[in-house]
Amino acid sequence: MKKELVFLGAPASGKGTQTDLLSEHLGFPHIDTGSLLRAAIKAQTPEGLEAQKHMDQGHLVPVWLVGAIIKNRLSQDDCKNGYILDGYPRSMEQAAVLENINKELDKEPVDFRVIYFDINADVLLERIVNRRSCPKCGKIYNLKFLKPKEHGYCNECKTELIQRKDDTEETAKARFSTYFEQTAPLIKYYEDMGKLYKIDANGTIDEVWQRLLKVI
Ligand code: AMP
Repeated sequence: MKKELVFLGAPASGKGTQTDLLSEHLGFPHIDTGSLLRAAIKAQTPEGLEAQKHMDQGHLVPVWLVGAIIKNRLSQDDCKNGYILDGYPRSMEQAAVLENINKELDKEPVDFRVIYFDINADVLLERIVNRRSCPKCGKIYNLKFLKPKEHGYCNECKTELIQRKDDTEETAKARFSTYFEQTAPLIKYYEDMGKLYKIDANGTIDEVWQRLLKVI
């Protein structure tokens, strides 16, 4: 049966790291709307230019824009047996859009699960402002918790690491407000549907990974 996994959690709750591991483990694509939007910005497409205005302020990009991107991505062949969605949906409106897309694309019953990364909120801001990423291979580091071997450079490809524009303290705070106002209501929504699987996202990457394996 096709497996559709949605990862839900606050910014920097560790969803991205765990999605990468799981994507490799299950062989399903890791679909991360933040990265798709950043790629559109880099390519300077009309969608990217529109998205950038919202992202720079820590707000959600418009529903129609991210909906079109996600529909296009989920229609691709590599999603046939399953996918992992990281960062979508982020509002009740987006959850309705996803349901419509799945209804249209899925011809048979699927195993749909939402994995909620439950984490202690006070560690998140520190994680975000210390986060650095490699602009070439996308690998993520943290100046405090996951340091690169050589300060400022990627372990894998030796490229100089960068800080995401929206990982500054001010924008990160706006992203948390957006999360608590618009995304957090999805926890109850999916819980009421009987689709929510909650994991404790505090602890090391390996500890969280072991918990994740038990619910997928
Ligand atoms: P992320 O990389 O997941 O932290 O996302 C970075 C930014 O991209 C967010 O702060 C939003 O501005 C935008 N974004 C990512 N996913 C979505 C989404 N599902 N809906 C709207 N905006 C999004």
